[in-house]
Amino acid sequence: MTSEKPKKILIVGGGTAGWMAANLMASRWEDIDVCLLESTEIGIIGVGEGSTPHLKFFFDSIGVSESEWMPRCNATYKNGISFANWSSVPGHESYFHPFPAQTDDFTVPTFFSNAKARIQGNNVNAHPDNYFLETYLTKKNLGPIAAESFPFQIFYGYHFDATLVGQFLAEKAVGRGVKRIFGTVTEVVLGAKGEITAVRLNDDSFLEADFFIDCSGFKSLLLQDALKVTFNSFKENLFNNAAVVMPSAISEIIPPETKSTTLSNGWAWKIPLVNRYGNGYVYSGDYITPDQAETELRQHLGLLESDVAARHLQMKVGRAEKHWEKNCLAIGLSQGFIEPLEATALALSYETITGFIKHYENGFYTNKFAEIFNNEINAKFDGVRDYIVCHYKANQRKDTNYWKDNAVNPKVSDSLNKILYLWRTSQNFANDMRIHNLEGSYQAKSWACLLAGYGVLPPLESSATNAGYTSPHDLDQLADFIRRCGLNFKNHNDLLN
Ligand SMILES: Cc1cc2nc3c(=O)[nH]c(=O)nc-3n(C[C@H](O)[C@H](O)[C@H](O)COP(=O)(O)OP(=O)(O)OC[C@H]3O[C@@H](n4cnc5c(N)ncnc54)[C@H](O)[C@@H]3O)c2cc1C
Repeated sequence: MTSEKPKKILIVGGGTAGWMAANLMASRWEDIDVCLLESTEIGIIGVGEGSTPHLKFFFDSIGVSESEWMPRCNATYKNGISFANWSSVPGHESYFHPFPAQTDDFTVPTFFSNAKARIQGNNVNAHPDNYFLETYLTKKNLGPIAAESFPFQIFYGYHFDATLVGQFLAEKAVGRGVKRIFGTVTEVVLGAKGEITAVRLNDDSFLEADFFIDCSGFKSLLLQDALKVTFNSFKENLFNNAAVVMPSAISEIIPPETKSTTLSNGWAWKIPLVNRYGNGYVYSGDYITPDQAETELRQHLGLLESDVAARHLQMKVGRAEKHWEKNCLAIGLSQGFIEPLEATALALSYETITGFIKHYENGFYTNKFAEIFNNEINAKFDGVRDYIVCHYKANQRKDTNYWKDNAVNPKVSDSLNKILYLWRTSQNFANDMRIHNLEGSYQAKSWACLLAGYGVLPPLESSATNAGYTSPHDLDQLADFIRRCGLNFKNHNDLLN
């Protein structure tokens, strides 16, 4: 097969997705002309301030150190997310979802074993907060960077100012030779085979390219608008379609976690940066008005009397049927968005860019592997969707129709139903998740954290004991192992200083 390597790639959109793509593509393909077009009239969405470990993979792959980017972007470390008030099961009012760590290999078998025993009716403590190093670090306000002699790897994410990250990445990309162009697309020009040949700008000039990257945000100007790729909405099982956001003052102790707390018709995030908290209430406009949501968020933050400005945003939740169509790839909000409960959007963007680069190169810069790629990305989106939907299915709040409707909503995917079935019945949950190929986006331990965290467990008989069950490790031994591991980590504030 002959190579059809493009001479010029045009990225439309200069949000985080566009600049991530520009950096990765320019550092990979030095012989391709990479240009990025952004509109000063339209601007970026400017939210999205929590990440998964994928953001570290991204910065590592473009050779940027934490000491370079973190201070520029007011960034902090993130060990995971705590979920508060999602469950009313006594003892399960909150739980922490940690990122993976190699120490899990020593603690997670006991977690699975105890959870299984608890499901079978033994009186055993199966709350996930007892089993993970990063949960301990967070309780003690320790950051995720270990002493050099610590032999286990820890994965972690960040919190950051989205606008500053965009500016930082733009500088980096321009330094790598990316051409930055300002202008607003007014028309997408198609060729005889339905491929994109150029975009027309508001000054009536045209920008031509061989390949186009759609990073135009929710509008999806190229993929969905011009190429008519269908958008599959997730509205039937993810009700939220709006958010209101506002900052608040940062505390003296900067916690290394995102906090997610349920409110009457959705949930609120609290993301610590060096200089402020970013807060947002993600809610469904079918149950509450924007004004009501803003008042409730202000109340929640103790800002009812404050004149701090709020921003209101709409969200389009779902994904495109294909992400790579003809000579166009969509990345970021233009390809789809699953609400921000687990802060997965940048991770999906990163996986889209790296997956595309791999398949595009392997296919000698043709569309040979586009279908495989599209199926892979769809599976990632659907896996994340299942995990987020499970939060709502597992919620135990009964005080509003929103929460009751979420809990009884029958529109659940076959894969999520299968996972819930395995949780209740499987003798070896982790193994069966693997056998049924259900671990694509989240590992079994994350699923077990969620389900045990919310107390999705049969009620305990008053006579229940743990007689006859032997745990692989005593919980006190485990706690001691985790505590001793914790001695290798620094206070989060000190780490940031
Ligand atoms: C409420 C909310 C919370 C979120 N929280 C998180 C989170 O915690 N973690 C996470 O990873 N993600 C989160 N996200 C998602 C995250 O914000 C986005 O994935 C990320 O910012 C990337 O956005 P983008 O680059 O795709 O789009 P945008 O930032 O919207 O950028 C679009 C770009 O396209 C350009 N453009 C648009 N139209 C035209 C035109 N006609 N001509 C030229 N240029 C044009 C704009 O100028 C802009 O540069 C959240 C999203 C929302 C809505």
